[in-house]
Amino acid sequence: MTAFGSVFMPEMALTEFDGEKWGDHKLVPSDSLTLHPGAHVLHYASTCFEGLKAFRHPDGSVKIFRMDDNIARFAQSTELLALPAIDPAQTRDMILQVVERFASQAPEAPGSLYIRPTHIGTEPAIGKAAAPSLTSCQYVLVSPVGDYFAGGSDTTLRLLLEENGMRCAPHMGRIKSGGNYASALQPIMKAKRDLKVDQVLFCPNGDVQETGAANFLLIDGNTLITKALDDSFLHGITRNSLLTIARDMGLNVEERDLSVTELLERSRKPGCEAALSGTAAVLTPVGTLLHNGTEYQVGDGQAGTTTAKLRQALNHIQWGLAEDTHGWLTSI
Ligand code: PMP
Repeated sequence: MTAFGSVFMPEMALTEFDGEKWGDHKLVPSDSLTLHPGAHVLHYASTCFEGLKAFRHPDGSVKIFRMDDNIARFAQSTELLALPAIDPAQTRDMILQVVERFASQAPEAPGSLYIRPTHIGTEPAIGKAAAPSLTSCQYVLVSPVGDYFAGGSDTTLRLLLEENGMRCAPHMGRIKSGGNYASALQPIMKAKRDLKVDQVLFCPNGDVQETGAANFLLIDGNTLITKALDDSFLHGITRNSLLTIARDMGLNVEERDLSVTELLERSRKPGCEAALSGTAAVLTPVGTLLHNGTEYQVGDGQAGTTTAKLRQALNHIQWGLAEDTHGWLTSI
């Protein structure tokens, strides 16, 4: 099996900002990017990206899930990284252009076409350590994918609760930027190697935040608890969708701080569930938490029934098996 996101369609949509204006976007070969080795992005990490999916429906049509929400988050990352602003309508057209081009190759559910809009600072200017890139390039890659976590929703994950250190700088968490991911790699690799965990749940000073590529949800009986939006973590669009579905299902949703102490206390209760949410992860159950050398089971350590219900409700909207009551799908 090929790794998630390692196969790309042969063309991408691309446009460039020349310092004054954005050019017309066009489809170009996916491996045709030329960058100066002194490009701003390669030195000062002026880069942000998005991750969203297009799904094939039973009638053969292909629909993109929450495209405008991803475009809005992308625009926010662009602004907060001082990259040149682009009209969201152009980003929209680029996504539609490349998805239309490869719609016939969108896998059947549970697979999908993963869409990766990316924006990079291209100015060859290594003297600009403290100044933005004047030129930039935005492109949209697409990649056919299956499940992100091998085993999909049947296996449960084992997480390390990491209270020392953080995933990224505390004011940068809501920006989907390459530097944030690079800064989280060492603790994740160390935990995977030494403690055989699947992921690290970053909990600086006991504040339960998120893992390297997904948000964290705790479900205790009829109550779903997850951190309230602030600058420290990525505002997942899957998180937002699941909270909406949970409210629709009559769950009581609490967006608030969750401490490691409360998490471990609640986890002990039979029936307690925990899960990771994200475009790639969808909603993947967590069975075990590792904290200061002690293992804690979440509930009975197995995939929970509420987690399964939420995941299925989300998947059914994405796959066209349930009505899109919230208007989350865009036809191409
Ligand atoms: N947190 C991080 C750090 C992520 O990389 C992701 C994946 N984009 C998420 C949370 C979940 O975000 P979304 O639901 O929008 O995919």
